[in-house]
Amino acid sequence: MTCYRFNTNCVQGTYDPKSGEPRVLPIVQSTTFAYDDSDYVADLFDLKAAGSFYTRLGNPTTDGFEGKINLLEGGVGALALSSGQSASMFAILNICKAGDHVISSSSIYGGTYNLFDVSLRKLGIDFTFVDPDESAEALLSCAKPNTKAIFGETIANPGMNVLNFEKFSSVAKALDIPFIVDNTLATPFLCRPFEHGANIIVHSASKYTDGHATSLGGVLIDGGNYNWDNGKFPGLVEPDESYHGLKYTETFGAAAYIVKARVQLQRDFGCTPSPFNSFMFHLGLETLHLRMERHSENALKLAEFLSEHPCVEWVKYPGLKSSPYHELAQKYLPKGSSGILSFGIKGGAKAGKELVKHLDLVRLVVHLGDLRTSILHPASTTHRQLNEQQQINSGIYPEMIRVSVGIEDIHDLIEDFDQALRAAAV
Ligand SMILES: *Cc1c(COP(=O)(O)O)cnc(C)c1O
Repeated sequence: MTCYRFNTNCVQGTYDPKSGEPRVLPIVQSTTFAYDDSDYVADLFDLKAAGSFYTRLGNPTTDGFEGKINLLEGGVGALALSSGQSASMFAILNICKAGDHVISSSSIYGGTYNLFDVSLRKLGIDFTFVDPDESAEALLSCAKPNTKAIFGETIANPGMNVLNFEKFSSVAKALDIPFIVDNTLATPFLCRPFEHGANIIVHSASKYTDGHATSLGGVLIDGGNYNWDNGKFPGLVEPDESYHGLKYTETFGAAAYIVKARVQLQRDFGCTPSPFNSFMFHLGLETLHLRMERHSENALKLAEFLSEHPCVEWVKYPGLKSSPYHELAQKYLPKGSSGILSFGIKGGAKAGKELVKHLDLVRLVVHLGDLRTSILHPASTTHRQLNEQQQINSGIYPEMIRVSVGIEDIHDLIEDFDQALRAAAV
């Protein structure tokens, strides 16, 4: 098969209809698949044959989405899920059990922070949160004998830290643990974490993958580049009694992690996306390269405009030359720094509330990665369940406004922010 470039893979990657089949990946809205032969179905259940037998575990439309995101990230396999939250949950539960420990960047999405700090902790998995900008030594000093993974976000939501992949992967290698990256904000168009030492990637597909704010979903992608047979991950190496003693690493080699996530966790937890949502994610990926280019271009222009604005205290955007992350952005995000920026409005939270009232094009939504520009006040919305210290640890300040810059005409966006900032300041 010819090896095409990234943009071609967005448009045409993996779905290749045979003569007479639909040109566009079809929506197979069926829980069920019909068979003539029970021996074949037995082989499907025993994972000896590939094919759909029940949509909880696999569906042709969902396979299409998984194939494309896997191709774009350069993994060995992907598992689509019903939300980004379930993708992050599976990423950890696939390799950790009660008594295990994970090192996580503290500058992560608020929902992920709560998942780790509250719900997974209740299941007996321990987390240490650490400032991702600390030294490698400081990260290493968080390790315990039971540490099983290290987790970070390529571009932290909404702290805007750019992950130092070299540092995180060196720590993962020194501890011989997998390095898990949430690549939601960067997308594989801007950054391909497997090329920088990551072993597992998670996405909230609800954001740039969909791109049009229509569907909730997530995806887990396996780099196939970690040796699980090192004594730390018996669940992947030793017989799975719920699968007639199947050994994942022995049977599936480099794809052991992603097969286990599907046949064990998806079987038991059932965090399955609907085929319709998988169709929307697949459709979204077809224009990912164009959208991310424009999101990044518009965000840089808006960040530059806001930096000069008299009503603005500060602007955080990794693409700005003044950003402390500019160098890391140049290294890991050479095609652009994505569409998310944050700024501090003069007059604090009160002025922020006024700003929302005066914006016309730009609406307040609890979301990011949409085509349409939106804003959010994280301290009172996405991060409100964290206390003030946890908020500051996650990079959230009271005057902070997060902007998800869309793909509209940049002049209209600048004019809307300008009039609303001036009106809010009065
Ligand atoms: C939104 C988001 C999530 C959670 O995804 P859902 O699809 O909303 O469950 C996880 N990580 C990041 C970086 C996000 O922005």
